[in-house]
Amino acid sequence: MTVLALDIGATKFAAGVVHTGKEVRDVRRVNVPREDVWAACRDLLRAVAGDATITAVGIGSAGPVDVRTGITAPLNIPEWKSGFAIVAAVQELFPAAAIRFAIDGACLALAEHHVGALRGVPNGLALTVSSGIGGGLIADGRVVLGRTGNAGHIGHIVVPGWDVPCLCGGVGCVEAVASGMSSVRWAVAQGWQGSTGIQLAEDAHRGDEIALAALHRAGTALGQAIASAAALLDVDRVVIGGGFAQSGAPLWDPLRAALAEHARLEFLRGISVVLSDITNGATLVGAGVLATGDAGTDDLG
Ligand SMILES: [Zn+2]
Repeated sequence: MTVLALDIGATKFAAGVVHTGKEVRDVRRVNVPREDVWAACRDLLRAVAGDATITAVGIGSAGPVDVRTGITAPLNIPEWKSGFAIVAAVQELFPAAAIRFAIDGACLALAEHHVGALRGVPNGLALTVSSGIGGGLIADGRVVLGRTGNAGHIGHIVVPGWDVPCLCGGVGCVEAVASGMSSVRWAVAQGWQGSTGIQLAEDAHRGDEIALAALHRAGTALGQAIASAAALLDVDRVVIGGGFAQSGAPLWDPLRAALAEHARLEFLRGISVVLSDITNGATLVGAGVLATGDAGTDDLG
């Protein structure tokens, strides 16, 4: 009996074997190619599965998704942008397996709720801030999926003051301002010479003015988005993971300042906002929770 977890990220696929305790082992990763995207994903799954009989697969995917039809349409994977039937494809690969599918944000929330900072927290918000911005919600102790499985899509909350076009077609989404990719793009337009969010954070810590301004901009927009989401959801705690969230004080100080400025109502004051301590792929861990069916009884009802 082998259970697999699959994370369909914007730039990387990751897959591994789910063990008890929600731990995912034997993790392999592959960059998402420009073409033949499914072949890369299939080969990764085959490599992880080996000769084992696969009984279940949990899939967490970058969004948007449609869990009713099993279709994923990640904005950052051009070949799949108009929709790929991921559940049917994985089912064909492992005919005997139960396939469970959710957006990466819901998997993130599941991971934090089962093994991370939202354990024992009935109302929480989990965010990932990396090349894009995603999120998931725990409300009254359950993960919230929404009509099509896209609930918690916090990257497309509109933040005030920056009329930046977003990949989704909208304008002023927090992802368009505050993601690692958006911050790098903005910094480069201001004359910064670098290409990754990690370099941007390193330069900010060295005192580079453009890098500091880019992180200040990102942190402020994130604080605004979190204040709006928290007002809507009345949460106990917000947890933030993802590579760009590791940027430290140059990102977190303006984030906390913007949150304090916008979250003024009594129930919003003093919300705990913490850095995720799930280091090795929260979406994958959450996909594992999904695959083992624990989400079915505890969260999905
Ligand atoms: Zn958007």
